[in-house]
Amino acid sequence: MELACLDLEGVLIPEIWIAFAEETGIDELKATTRDIPDYDQLMQQRLRILDQHGLTLPQIQDTISRLTPLDGAVEFVDWLRERFQLIILSDTFYEFAQPLMRQLGFPTLLCHKLNVDEKGRIVGYTLRQRDPKRQSVRALQLLNYRVIAAGDSYNDTTMLTQAEAGILFHAPDNVIREFPQFPAVHTYEDLKKAFIAASNRDLSL
Ligand SMILES: [Mg+2]
Repeated sequence: MELACLDLEGVLIPEIWIAFAEETGIDELKATTRDIPDYDQLMQQRLRILDQHGLTLPQIQDTISRLTPLDGAVEFVDWLRERFQLIILSDTFYEFAQPLMRQLGFPTLLCHKLNVDEKGRIVGYTLRQRDPKRQSVRALQLLNYRVIAAGDSYNDTTMLTQAEAGILFHAPDNVIREFPQFPAVHTYEDLKKAFIAASNRDLSL
């Protein structure tokens, strides 16, 4: 039995924080897991910047409401779901993801949760667990699934390592260089081929 795990931001949808940084013109918000591998450090920095500028969750959600999945992402998800059970493993937050998940047809999403006060200020966040992507793959393997995973960034590499097969998609050069053990592809057509190659089933149909 095989199962596909996909990262969300940078793989199926744009980077939410980069989109918000562009709308607000706050360059410091452009840092992502591609730049700062320590997710806690990255989130603390983001929350500090939001506070400095008096920005709240509804303002971020307003930006997100205008985002659409990456070109070809909806078709790719449809293709994948005909061939694999699909689970999205993301370091985003349920409060951010909803409008984009609707456009992707609501595949199963495991991610984190924001802590928000009554004025909409993001006061913190609750990580589902430590090393959540790798732990999710481990849990699925305990259910006797063979996991093929794809992601674009540092926060995906433990997931890719834990999976029976890991694929880098849309990854920046520094990640590709540091993790040469994973095949690296840049288009959905090549990602389909990588899933077919990694599968132990005949998916030619
Ligand atoms: Mg990503």
